[in-house]
Amino acid sequence: MLGERQRPGGALIWGSADDYAHTLNFGQKIASGVDLPESDVTLAFAEGFDQEVERGGGPDEIDWGDDKPGLLKDRGARLAAVYHQQVSPSVQPVAVQEEFSYQVAGLPVPIIGRIDLETASALVEWKVTARVERQPKQHWRTQARLYQAAAAEKPRALPAAKPLEWHVKARTKTPTVVTAATELGLLLMPSPAAVEATHERVRKLVTTLLHLIRTFGPDEPWPTHAPDYGWACNWCGYRPSCPWWAGEENW
Ligand code: SF4
Repeated sequence: MLGERQRPGGALIWGSADDYAHTLNFGQKIASGVDLPESDVTLAFAEGFDQEVERGGGPDEIDWGDDKPGLLKDRGARLAAVYHQQVSPSVQPVAVQEEFSYQVAGLPVPIIGRIDLETASALVEWKVTARVERQPKQHWRTQARLYQAAAAEKPRALPAAKPLEWHVKARTKTPTVVTAATELGLLLMPSPAAVEATHERVRKLVTTLLHLIRTFGPDEPWPTHAPDYGWACNWCGYRPSCPWWAGEENW
């Protein structure tokens, strides 16, 4: 609303490059049924990484933190290779990065999104994470339920609602990939009641958003529960100028 732009961080560049590399592989695998050679995937990761840096305005515009871009790129390529070796062979996609427009009753606009991967029996959401996650993070569920609901609307979707699996790719020193094949917590079974609860949560969220816009407008700070609560603050590029963090030394 204020036109302030947050500098993209290295983790975001890494995640986008990882999406790019595996999308290249799975996109062609829908028809071919065969994975690309590993070297093609790691090369695609490097290409995707460079493209994202350019899109972000060049290397000087990226918030690299303590990371070195070259090292980050090498580590990302290694993680992409591990996923390609350990997971890709068992995945036969029917759709990759398919866009959807999903209308929740009572909302003024549809929710627009893209599902990373769909197989005949499940939806897959990729997560590139700092640590090995064996359970979904709390804020992953709303997205997952909306994806399940949107995918179930597709005319060719049989069964109507599919489970969603998180494929976790951890940026740990030793690149690590975990999926629902070994961690059942990374599997979310369909649930009409949970989808309905998600609809209601989103409706209430939009109601709150509209209330905040009407009450405070773009210039007054909005209540966010920070600094006491708010996991997002730890990753937020606006924190140096955030009014709720003014005078706090823990930065
Ligand atoms: S630091 Fe926290 S409260 Fe402030 S803008 Fe960022 S996420 Fe919002």
